[in-house]
Amino acid sequence: MGIVVVGTVAFDTVETPFGRGENVLGGSATYFSTSASFFTDVSLVAVVGEDFPQEHVEFLKSRQINTEGLQQIPGKTFHWTGKYGYDLNEAQTLDTQLNVLMEFNPKLPQSYRNAEYLFLANIDPDLQMQVLEQVENPKLIACDTMNFWISSKPEALERVLKKVDIVVINEGEARQFTGEANLVKAARSIIALGCKRLVVKRGEYGVLMFTADSVFAAPAYPLEEVFDPTGAGDTFAGGFIGYLANTGDTSEEGIRQAIIFGSVMASFNVEDFSLERMKRLSYGEIEARYKSFKSLTSFRDITTL
Ligand code: AMP
Repeated sequence: MGIVVVGTVAFDTVETPFGRGENVLGGSATYFSTSASFFTDVSLVAVVGEDFPQEHVEFLKSRQINTEGLQQIPGKTFHWTGKYGYDLNEAQTLDTQLNVLMEFNPKLPQSYRNAEYLFLANIDPDLQMQVLEQVENPKLIACDTMNFWISSKPEALERVLKKVDIVVINEGEARQFTGEANLVKAARSIIALGCKRLVVKRGEYGVLMFTADSVFAAPAYPLEEVFDPTGAGDTFAGGFIGYLANTGDTSEEGIRQAIIFGSVMASFNVEDFSLERMKRLSYGEIEARYKSFKSLTSFRDITTL
């Protein structure tokens, strides 16, 4: 079995310098699972309210995502309102309506419990922990979070971070969580909590991956048109963990390759609003952009002068 992911399935209202989307499909688990579904089987754990249209569920199903763990309960769906200025690297949260998330009691279907890969996407860390405890013997656990939970539930978040193999986090949030301005020191202190790897997302500057004794840097793909960065982080994580689950290769080389697949997926997602670009993406395009990435970062080894 592939990946189990818990996170938000949401309505987003997003404003960027290039347009505005009102009540569009969003959520950390939505972006993650759509992206990962290009590489492996994905089983979703999330909650929505009565207002959530069947059309969105049908979209997830059309990507072969298992929605047995998607609960629909009385109340309104989680709603995030955010804004981006010309610096598209940092979202400004204008409003967060937790709604049905406050009543959510994730109970994993039996068929989810032997998942080999578990991704705890951005959601209340207490819910991340509840899901983590129900998966029997995962080969790899990774997680994400954001400033909202770092400020409101730091102790619960720390408990989660101590139980995972890979932490994927934004640059600003790594600094916020550790209180450390220098990113290398911030990375060291997150790794000291017990995870093996930390992947720091840096928007248009790409990602840095730290272990206790190595650093790997990958650029972001230089795009001429970026419309909406919402979901770039989750789409990155979906490509990254999705590709890992596909190959099962958790060697350093295998993980580095997966990082590039994550970066490729994020580069597509930002080209249009909500999940519009993902909806019309083909695997052929993914492979072609992976090759462009390779040539972008390939250069001759040092030669003697
Ligand atoms: P990102 O990949 O970081 O751009 O994530 C964007 C997604 O995160 C949006 O579609 C939102 O619905 C979702 N989101 C925003 N705030 C939260 C939150 N506090 N907890 C979980 N998901 C959130």
